[in-house]
Amino acid sequence: MSVLLSKNINVEQEYDVIVCGAGPAGIGAAVSSARLGKSTLLIDRYGVVGGMLTSGLVGPVMGRTAKGTMTDEINTLIGGDVPIKMAFDQEMAKIKLTELLTESGVELRLQTPIVDVLKDGDSIVGVVVSSAYGLYALKAKVVIDCTGDGTVSYLAGAPYRVGREEDELQQPVTIMFRLNGVDENVAIKEGDWTFKVRMPNSKDANWFLQFCVDACAEGELPKSVSLVRLYRTSRPGECHVNATHLNYINGLDPKEISAAEAILRKQIPVIVDFIKAHVPGFENTYLVNSSTTLGVRDTRRIMGEYILTREDLESARKFEDVVVHDAWFFMDIHNMAGGGQTLTNVPPYDIPYRCLLPLEVENLLVAGRCLSGTHDAQASYRIMSICMSTGQAAGVAAAVSIDEHVTPRKLDYKLVQQKLTESGAELFS
Ligand SMILES: Cc1cc2nc3c(=O)[nH]c(=O)nc-3n(C[C@H](O)[C@H](O)[C@H](O)COP(=O)(O)OP(=O)(O)OC[C@H]3O[C@@H](n4cnc5c(N)ncnc54)[C@H](O)[C@@H]3O)c2cc1C
Repeated sequence: MSVLLSKNINVEQEYDVIVCGAGPAGIGAAVSSARLGKSTLLIDRYGVVGGMLTSGLVGPVMGRTAKGTMTDEINTLIGGDVPIKMAFDQEMAKIKLTELLTESGVELRLQTPIVDVLKDGDSIVGVVVSSAYGLYALKAKVVIDCTGDGTVSYLAGAPYRVGREEDELQQPVTIMFRLNGVDENVAIKEGDWTFKVRMPNSKDANWFLQFCVDACAEGELPKSVSLVRLYRTSRPGECHVNATHLNYINGLDPKEISAAEAILRKQIPVIVDFIKAHVPGFENTYLVNSSTTLGVRDTRRIMGEYILTREDLESARKFEDVVVHDAWFFMDIHNMAGGGQTLTNVPPYDIPYRCLLPLEVENLLVAGRCLSGTHDAQASYRIMSICMSTGQAAGVAAAVSIDEHVTPRKLDYKLVQQKLTESGAELFS
């Protein structure tokens, strides 16, 4: 049992399934578990659901998985009939995602940081959370870790890796922000879903990339900012800006997170001034808001029964125990020592059930950016569309394992596949 229990922490309630973290993965997991009739609690330390998709101001939702998954459902829900590919409205997403969860029967516990776990032998049996009244515990038959940082698995003693295999260096961190007041007639070519910036006297959309690199070298942009990415939201004249950038930060260390916050906030007005001064159509743009939390691309990856690799992605390896089919996004690795990023394309690939099963801890599943893989592979499956589907698979597995009276590790993966297929998810093609 956890050390904290010696302080007489009360167990407030018991559930079938507790999902830790209400980001894209946690939402997929909680909705799927509740729809299969399991009492499901979704816990988050923030006061709003969505994780990076809302609190982190991350957009657009990128990547894809095979047809019929929760990825389709969530993206249709938040994108609605918006004609712009992948764009969505972050404020409406907060409302729609909360409705999706409550209408599916998920109980929400927001503003509730998870600070420890309860264990019985090798099994996780609950979590300890903090509130304005102090600490209390919540128990569950199965716990799903969708915290992004793999915090629950870490607290439960599961093995993990951080950052690059060779030196544990993590990808750079970013504070996202939004601009409005963009003259779309000038800034957007008809049919474009993003701002392919055309500088005056240049026909080449990519020319802007070099312009940013030059501005960085000349000191007009901060040293680690050599790429200014502008993506439409579904609101007229509005865009997400993915540009602030800082290297060598450990996204698990509050001291480093706080230092990064101070540096990145200062980068925002410099980048806004640069955009206003140089990008056609953005002359009257203004800052709408910036994310309330640091954007951390990778921290812990929880080591599972299988570790998904770069080679698996590049060869589109098939797995008998596939639970997410045709996941696709580039291996998107930001420069570890400066600005910019490298995008390596891969074919659509499969994710096996074993990646959701942390080693050494029973009754625990993991989904989202912290699931089991190498640093390179994570650079692809961390993308939000894929997180929604790994979450769905974890939620289904939790529910089915309870029905079958076995731990998730002992569960026959074919039963998970059957339930996913029954819900409309394509797994084989
Ligand atoms: C700057 C940046 C830009 C990105 N750009 C894109 C993009 O354009 N498109 C795209 O699709 N993806 C993008 N990504 C990737 C994507 O946003 C994340 O990888 C994805 O959101 C991960 O989903 P998740 O559900 O695993 O975790 P998260 O979205 O991080 O959600 C985890 C949730 O767990 C909660 N949590 C964590 N610890 C605790 C705790 N101890 N107690 C309680 N709750 C806890 C958090 O509050 C959070 O709500 C970007 C990421 C970053 C950082």
